[in-house]
Amino acid sequence: MTSGLTPQHALRTWLLNVLAELGGSAPTGHALKRMERRYGTLLSPEDHEGTERDNEPKWHNRTRFERKRMERSGLLVPARESRGVWTLTEAGWDQFHLLRDTNAEFGTGAEDPPGPSAHTPKGDETPSRAEQTTQRIVRSTAVADYVKRVHDYSCQVCGIRLATPAGAYAEAAHIRALGRPHDGPDIPANVLCLCPNHHVLFDFGMLTISEDLTVADHSSGASPCRLREIPEHRIDRQYLAYHRAHHSGTARPFTS
Ligand SMILES: [Zn+2]
Repeated sequence: MTSGLTPQHALRTWLLNVLAELGGSAPTGHALKRMERRYGTLLSPEDHEGTERDNEPKWHNRTRFERKRMERSGLLVPARESRGVWTLTEAGWDQFHLLRDTNAEFGTGAEDPPGPSAHTPKGDETPSRAEQTTQRIVRSTAVADYVKRVHDYSCQVCGIRLATPAGAYAEAAHIRALGRPHDGPDIPANVLCLCPNHHVLFDFGMLTISEDLTVADHSSGASPCRLREIPEHRIDRQYLAYHRAHHSGTARPFTS
């Protein structure tokens, strides 16, 4: 237990870290709860004191204040666009990766800092597209969350479900990528729920999926399996065809 109020910059770092761990976004209450679980031992009695106005713990109040500052700095999606869900922007992710690489105030909680996050770079964003990027991420989060939830965070290829202290973890992979030049749509029919390994293989084209949902793994030569599809989440075959065509030149040379 420390004394004195936790500095604002530490609250910022903690918030960046927990949002990254939660895949880039979380409702207000969830983010605060996670911060408390992860960094609670570092909070001081002063942090826990209630504010005079509504007796909310001071560190909650000061984290909300920090959230606004981060929004103004472009690290978080503006609250009016994200409807109470605190959501990292591309700049927010960059800041997170920078802090993680320098280990700033991350290794202090009960868990290790997160590894490569749910965020998979889709390509270069040009500065002139920054505003569009923010909106795209907001949409993407809702679709991604839906797909992951409906599969109960189990990989559609191998069925693995990763349990973590923050709950189950899976990644949402766009089949036809969103960015240029692919311009895929951000709809559930263009998204797969994958474990991190299969997400990587899929994005590199080392995993391709045929019309009848047979999965070919060109990286390990593992015997083909079938992609799990459920009635609540149908995959549009045209995006699988696009993915196969796009990677037709890259997948084969690595096949052993
Ligand atoms: Zn998998």
